[in-house]
Amino acid sequence: MLNIHNSMGGLKEPFQPLEPGHVRMYVCGITVYDLCHVGHARSQVVFDVVRRWLQASGYQVTYVRNITDIDDKIIERAAREGVSWREITARYIEAMHEDFAALGVLTPDVEPRATEYIPQIVEMIGTLVEKGYAYVAGNGDVLYSVGAFPSYGRLSGKRLGDLRAGARVEIGEHKQDPLDFVLWKMARPGEPSWESPWGAGRPGWHIECSAMSVALLGDHFDIHGGGLDLKFPHHENEIAQSCAACEAPFAHVWMHNGFLNIDDEKMSKSLGNFFTIREVLPRLRPEVMRAFVLSSHYRGPINYSEEALRQADAALKRLYLALRDVAPVADGPMAGEWSARFAAAMDDDFNTPEALAALQGLARALNTAKAAGEREEAGLLAAELCRLGSLLGLLGHDPGAWLSMASSLAEAADDLADDVIDGLVAARSEARQRRDWAESDRLRAELDAAGVIVEDGPTGSSWRRK
Ligand SMILES: [Zn+2]
Repeated sequence: MLNIHNSMGGLKEPFQPLEPGHVRMYVCGITVYDLCHVGHARSQVVFDVVRRWLQASGYQVTYVRNITDIDDKIIERAAREGVSWREITARYIEAMHEDFAALGVLTPDVEPRATEYIPQIVEMIGTLVEKGYAYVAGNGDVLYSVGAFPSYGRLSGKRLGDLRAGARVEIGEHKQDPLDFVLWKMARPGEPSWESPWGAGRPGWHIECSAMSVALLGDHFDIHGGGLDLKFPHHENEIAQSCAACEAPFAHVWMHNGFLNIDDEKMSKSLGNFFTIREVLPRLRPEVMRAFVLSSHYRGPINYSEEALRQADAALKRLYLALRDVAPVADGPMAGEWSARFAAAMDDDFNTPEALAALQGLARALNTAKAAGEREEAGLLAAELCRLGSLLGLLGHDPGAWLSMASSLAEAADDLADDVIDGLVAARSEARQRRDWAESDRLRAELDAAGVIVEDGPTGSSWRRK
C-alpha cells in the first residue's frame, strides 16, 4: 500500500486514486527565460521517480507538466537581447528538453504552454469576476480578492492577519487588500498581449496552472507537485482560484520537494554558487546526478557538494561492478527479498535512500553469488538489480562501458568502501582455494581497476590502496 505525505494537512496518508487504476498528476514546470539549474534537476528527477513508481505499481498515469512561456522575465530578456519573446521561449524550451532528456526524465504526457490556454484562462478569470472573487483594479488589471476566499492559507499554514501585517504595499498599487494578486495584466505598449473582456493583456503566473490543470485533468485530480518554494504563494493561489471558480476540491494530494543547497548555502546568482544543468553534466554523468538526488528523501533539503557527488558516484560504481560479467536472466522470477524491501521503501512516501540501500544489499548478494560461482543465481540477482534500478532511472548502461569511462569526479575511481573491498578479497581467496584461477584473476583485475593492490602471504591475502 502506497503512502504519500500530503502537504495539505501534513500527514502521510494511504494513497487511493480518485478513479480506480488511473492517477492524474500535475507538476509545475519551468518559466523558460533562462537555462535550467540544478534545483530544477532535483524537482524533475523527484517527480519522474514518483511517476515511474506509480506506473510500476500498476497505475495508468497521466502526467502533465506546464511551460510558463509568457512572463515579465521573458519579456525583459527579449527586450535586453533585442529579439522577440518567442525567440527566447523557443531557445529555452529546446534547452530544457535537452537537459531533462539527458537526466533521463521521461517526457510528460501533456506539456501545455500558458499561451496555448488563453481562452481557458480568460474563461476562469471571467467566472471568478462573476462570482465576486476577482475585480478590475484602477489600473485595469484583474486581481484576485484573497479576502473573498475564507480558507486562504490552509496549504501553507499561514494566517491572513499575519500575511497582511507582513505585506509590503508598493506606491501606486491598486489593490483593495495587499494580499490580492494579479490574474490578468493589462498590456503596456509593445508588450505581447491577447484580447480579453478586460482589454488586451496577458495572464498572471498563478492562473495559468489553475486553468491548465483543470482543463487537462479535471477540477478534482490526484497529485499536484512542485518545489517547496512554490507552496506559497503559488500553490496557495492556485487553490484559491480553482476551488473558487470550480466549486470543487482541486488537487487531492499536494507533494513538495525540498530545497537544493550548494555547500550548505542557498543557491543564488549573487552568491556565485549557481549552477545550470549543462554546466555540471559534462563532468558529472547524468546517472550520478540522479543517484545524488535520490540519495536524500525528497521532502528534506539536499546539499550539493563535491563530497556528496563523489559518494553518489562511488555508490553507483559499486552497483555496476556487481553487474559486470554477469548475464542477467531475463525471465526469472522477480519477487526476491530485495524487491520486497525496495517496494516497502518506495511505498513509504517514496523513500529513495532506503530503496538505494536495497539496491546495495542486492549488489552484495550478487557479489557473493558470483564469488561462489553460482552463475544461475547471479543471473537472477543481476536481472532483479537491473529491473529495480530502472524504476529509479538508474543502471541503464552496459556495466563494462560504464566502468571503463573514467569518472571525472576526482578520487572517485578508488572510492570503493572498505567492506566492499573486503568482500572482493574474500571472494578471491575462496576462488583460489577451489583452484578457480579464472575467477581469482578476474577479481584481482577488478580490484586493480578500483585502485586496490592485493598481496598474498602465508597467512592469507591482505590489501591496500594504490
Ligand atoms: Zn504552477
